[in-house]
Amino acid sequence: MAKLKEFKGDTPTWCPGCGHYSVMAGIQRACLGLGLEPHQVAVITGIGCSGKVSEYMRCYGFHTLHGRSLPVAQAVKLVNRNLKVIAAGGDGDGYGIGAGHFVHAARRNVDITYVVMDNQIYGLTKGQTSPTSRQGFVTKTSPEGAGEREVKPLELALGAGASFVAQAFAGDIKRLTELIQQGMEHEGFALINVFSPCVTYNKVNTYDYFKEHLLDLKQMEDYDPHDLAQAYATVLERQGLVQGIIYKEDRPAYHTFLTDYPDQPIAEQNLVRDDARLQQLW
Ligand code: SF4
Ligand code: MG
Repeated sequence: MAKLKEFKGDTPTWCPGCGHYSVMAGIQRACLGLGLEPHQVAVITGIGCSGKVSEYMRCYGFHTLHGRSLPVAQAVKLVNRNLKVIAAGGDGDGYGIGAGHFVHAARRNVDITYVVMDNQIYGLTKGQTSPTSRQGFVTKTSPEGAGEREVKPLELALGAGASFVAQAFAGDIKRLTELIQQGMEHEGFALINVFSPCVTYNKVNTYDYFKEHLLDLKQMEDYDPHDLAQAYATVLERQGLVQGIIYKEDRPAYHTFLTDYPDQPIAEQNLVRDDARLQQLW
């Protein structure tokens, strides 16, 4: 059984208090909770402060291009079914430049977990409006307030056909870990959108803000995460400020439709050297 320190890679350089520390700890604890060893996990990231998590964790990893974590993560899973694959990134990465990939990964339902560290700002480039910044949000690039309406990740995921949609908060690591672990256990595409405050550049969506406004769906006794209509209604009514599993649908993951999907990981098969083929090439 692995220990937490075995999942720790390079020393993080995030700002003190950044929510991403908790999100990474949540991913590591979820791996432990599932009894995984570092060699059984792959973390695939995009660009942004959040993207560094693939270097700060000790497991298989790939720090890809901006917005491109999902295509790579899906490919990794399809060539090595034995890996638990986690794609991770930020709101700019996932809902801006990577938004097209997000929509299609959701409906394709490849068996991966997507953890989005949503801080409603571009942190790495020093505080500009991101796709999830609320309309009217003031930054140095939007001094009179953002003119566009924000992207709403939960509504987007529900509309795109994601089979598992959850939301968590970096200020509640126990619940965050539980939700990431449930997403990893789900067979299919699982989104965990995490409110992960950027303490340096976002002075509006702070830890205190989420503590005050987030409702945990556990408190709604009649909430049924298998009810899509109720999921939409609740998300709309609460303006997205909910924590928990918003929607869960048991439907076959993408690989079950592949008639020639191999029993063994393709990655391992390729390790067997085909000498006859090599002779032909030479
Ligand atoms: Fe975290 Fe913001 Fe600092 Fe980036 S700039 S490390 S998101 S607090
Ligand atoms: Mg961001």
